[in-house]
Amino acid sequence: MTRAFTFPGITTRVVFGAGTLARTGEELARLGHSRALVLSTPNQRQDAQALAERLGDKAAGVFAGARMHTPVEVTEKAVQAFLDTGSDCVISLGGGSTTGLGKAIAVRTGADQIAIPTTYAGSEMTDILGETASGEKTTRREAAIRPEVVIYDVDLTLSLPLGLTVTSALNAIAHAMEAFYAPDRNPVIEAMCRDAMRAFQSAIPRLVQDPADREARGEALYAAWCCSTALGQVSMALHHKLAHVLGGSFDLPHAETHAILLPHTTAFNAAAVPDLLSPIAGVFGAPAGAGLWDFAKASGAPMRLADLGLAKADLPRAAAIAMKNKYWNPRPFDEAAILTLLQAAWAGTRPA
Ligand code: NAD
Repeated sequence: MTRAFTFPGITTRVVFGAGTLARTGEELARLGHSRALVLSTPNQRQDAQALAERLGDKAAGVFAGARMHTPVEVTEKAVQAFLDTGSDCVISLGGGSTTGLGKAIAVRTGADQIAIPTTYAGSEMTDILGETASGEKTTRREAAIRPEVVIYDVDLTLSLPLGLTVTSALNAIAHAMEAFYAPDRNPVIEAMCRDAMRAFQSAIPRLVQDPADREARGEALYAAWCCSTALGQVSMALHHKLAHVLGGSFDLPHAETHAILLPHTTAFNAAAVPDLLSPIAGVFGAPAGAGLWDFAKASGAPMRLADLGLAKADLPRAAAIAMKNKYWNPRPFDEAAILTLLQAAWAGTRPA
C-alpha cells in the first residue's frame, strides 16, 4: 500500500554539540536581538548568572524563579522583569520547567526564545505549554510557543543527577513510544524515534556506571532531541494524558511519573498495535512493555506510583479524571481498564 503522510517541517534552528553554550551570543545576534533575559530555576541561578556575564551587555538580566508546572504567578513576575529590563528576547537555561517559563513569557509578549535544555524532558522543540493557575493545569498549543533556536550543549548535562538522568530519559522515551502509533506520524519522526531508542538503550547503562561519561551524555542528549522533535510534531495519547492527570491533579513529580507509567501504558497499547511498537520491543526486549520495565528496573528508576506518595484510595479518582475528556488512543478503553492500568503502576508489577 502506498504510504500517505504530511510532514509539517521542522522550523526550529538547532545547534548541537559540546561547548555550544559559547555560541549563544552569536545566535542572539542572528535573531537580531541585543538584550536577553536569562531564565533558570533557583537551583541553576549560578549557571544563568555565568551565562549573563559571558553575554555582557547583550544580557538584560537574570530571572531565576522558574518552577515546575509553570505557575502563572511566577510568569507574571517574570513578564514584569522582562518589561522592566527592556529585554527583547528570552534565553531559557535549564530543564522543562525553565523552558516552560520562557514559552509563557513568549506567548504573552511575542518575545523570541533561545532554549538551552539541560535535561532530556523535551519541551524545547514543542509548541506545547502547560500552565497552572489555582491548582489546575491547562495545556495549549500555538506557533508562538515554539522556541526559535535550541542550543544543545552536552557539557551542561554532565551535572544532571543520575536519578533525573534516568527518569528524564524514560520521559523522553514516552514521547517516542506514543509517536510510533500517532495517527499523524511521518517517516522523519519514525526514523528519529528509532534512532533515539537505540541511543538511549546504549547510553543509559553507561551513565548508570559513570554519569560523567561524555560520549554517553552526547548520545543521550541526541536521543532527547529526537524525542522532543517527535513530541513537537505528532499527537500524544493515553500515556501523556495519564501523566498529565497525575501531575496536574495529584502533584506527582513530572519525570518520575512518566518513568513509572511508561511500561504499563506501553503494554496496554502494544496489545492493540504490536507491530507499530516493534521498534521498542526490538531494542528493549519483547513484549515492549516488559522490555521497558526491565530496562527501567536495571537503570535504578522508581517503579511504583505508591513510592511517589500516591494513595491507593486516589486511583479511582485519577481514573475518573482521565475519562473526563475524550481523546484518541490506539486501543479503546473504559474507566475500569484505566483503573487496572493505574493499579499495576501503583504496585509496580511487571507487565506480562
Ligand atoms: P525541571 O526543569 O523541573 O528540573 C528539575 C530540577 O533539576 C530543577 O531544580 C533544575 O534546576 C535541575 N536541573 C536541570 N538540569 C540540571 C542539570 N543539568 N544539572 C543539575 N541540575 C539540573 O525538570 P524537567 O523534568 O526537565 O521538566 C519538567 C517540567 O517540564 C514539567 O513542568 C513538565 O510539564 C514540563 N514539560 C513540558 C513539555 C512541553 O512540551 N510543554 C515537555 C516536557 C516537559
